[in-house]
Amino acid sequence: MEPSPDFVSRVIAGGSEGVVDRSRRDFLRAAAALLVGLNLPKSSLAGGGQHGAGGSGQRAVIVIFGGVRHSETFSPEGLENIPHLSRDLLPQSLFYPNARNEGVTAHFNAISSILTGNWQRVDDWGKIAPTTPTLFEHFRKRLGAAQSDTWVVASNKALTSLIGASSASNYGPVYGANVVFPKQLMVAAVANALRAGRSRNMADRAKIESELENMLEAGNYEGLGWTVFDAADRLDPRVRGIIEEAITTFVRDGGPTSGDELTFLVSREVMRKFSPRLLVVIFSDVEVAHFGSYALHVGGIRTGDRLAYQLWQEIEANAEYKGKTTMVVLPEFGRDPDGSTTNGFFNHRGDTDSTRSTWMMALGAAVSKPQIVERPIRHVDLCATLADLLGCPPMESQGSRLTEIRV
Ligand SMILES: [Zn+2]
Repeated sequence: MEPSPDFVSRVIAGGSEGVVDRSRRDFLRAAAALLVGLNLPKSSLAGGGQHGAGGSGQRAVIVIFGGVRHSETFSPEGLENIPHLSRDLLPQSLFYPNARNEGVTAHFNAISSILTGNWQRVDDWGKIAPTTPTLFEHFRKRLGAAQSDTWVVASNKALTSLIGASSASNYGPVYGANVVFPKQLMVAAVANALRAGRSRNMADRAKIESELENMLEAGNYEGLGWTVFDAADRLDPRVRGIIEEAITTFVRDGGPTSGDELTFLVSREVMRKFSPRLLVVIFSDVEVAHFGSYALHVGGIRTGDRLAYQLWQEIEANAEYKGKTTMVVLPEFGRDPDGSTTNGFFNHRGDTDSTRSTWMMALGAAVSKPQIVERPIRHVDLCATLADLLGCPPMESQGSRLTEIRV
């Protein structure tokens, strides 16, 4: 189903500062608080709050941004789309203007390459786990870190929970991260509450279900469907009343919200409740580009810019993070050049600099002085760098440690 431009614009408007109305924001907050701890598989919470003793005491937050080109971000004409990254964060950052994706420029492969330090060539849709250990597994196995120490919170529908652990022998899910897809969980929780709701009349139910289906379709940007309506009912009966309140708000507002906004709110709840030492946040509102609207793609960039800055503000305000956390922000890849056979910014398939060359920004405890490092780096270099920062022994990686990032 092709979403209407009006529908898509409402999705994006839901995430824009100043446009979000109070009830919608309240709904997102309620949903975020509910999702953390209540709708996760039981094993995800094992050892919640109990951290392993090993390691350097340093923490890392990685913010991955979907596909964005230099031309819409760090370029003279792009800076207006990233006011927070360029004005608030860049002056205190280590900035690499040429961070290269030399692997497969599809979402699951790109992100699993970043998180393993090896170029992964597995299934584009996340049906096969990365083949070499993730940083999560290395950190947990070598240092005895708890599962609650490692989280992935993602909007990106091209990912699956297999992003949290590899298929490597002697590693795997037993050492993997908690992986959360907030929008998917929210929709599942709302759908379950709808099924169970006694007072909800059929007209309301039909309306909400159709809104939810639209919301799923809007996110179905690369042919990957969700099956949340078939999800097992995992909603805790104690919170059903609260969810039903949230549904009332949802109906009154009559529309969905930005996936990235919800991902931010859940990430912040995870930081406050579990304070993981390694947190990966994956935004993907920019991927609305696959629908062909340049304005909405740029709107997604502006949302991501604001939310990355808000994550940094949380790091600065949260005593568990302040002064001992390094935040790294990088896109998965660029997008294709204008005039290409793949429709330019719509896609990210080209073997060109526009698609492969992105940027990376690091700030916080491991950045002793702001500087711009012109030397090209590769996405696989990040993992080796962060393993060292967290106090892990070296991991087997195709990347090289970035010597500028150290405490
Ligand atoms: Zn994409």
